[in-house]
Amino acid sequence: MAGKTEIFTIETREPEQSFDITPRVREVVERAGVARGLCHVMVLHSTCAIVVNETADLNIGADVIRALDSLIPTRNDWLHDLKDDNAHAHVKASLLGPSELIPIVDGKLLLGKWQAIWLFELDGPRTRQVAVHLVEG
Ligand code: ZN
Repeated sequence: MAGKTEIFTIETREPEQSFDITPRVREVVERAGVARGLCHVMVLHSTCAIVVNETADLNIGADVIRALDSLIPTRNDWLHDLKDDNAHAHVKASLLGPSELIPIVDGKLLLGKWQAIWLFELDGPRTRQVAVHLVEG
């Protein structure tokens, strides 16, 4: 089974921010020339997340952040805040998850018409690494 991994970086600018990273992932898939297989996209950080959702309305990203903010208070006597002061971001990232698995068909990512791959920054600004792992088959 053939595979390939590439890592790219994203510079975030806000404490919480969403990015459509689909074009970056698509570049990796097209350069690799994988006709059929799976594309695993994983952010290599614990206060950041990867989600597949709609991109036609960029407000979806802002709404997800709003929903997370209403569910997860920044201050809550979090135990991790005694050490690192960013527990809320770890909890939010745990809810969204660090990765998505997307099929590759006919050399292209198989996403729905309105779907895109989002990166959610939850404790920025930081430099974030995203690993794209391709498996042919
Ligand atoms: Zn931490």
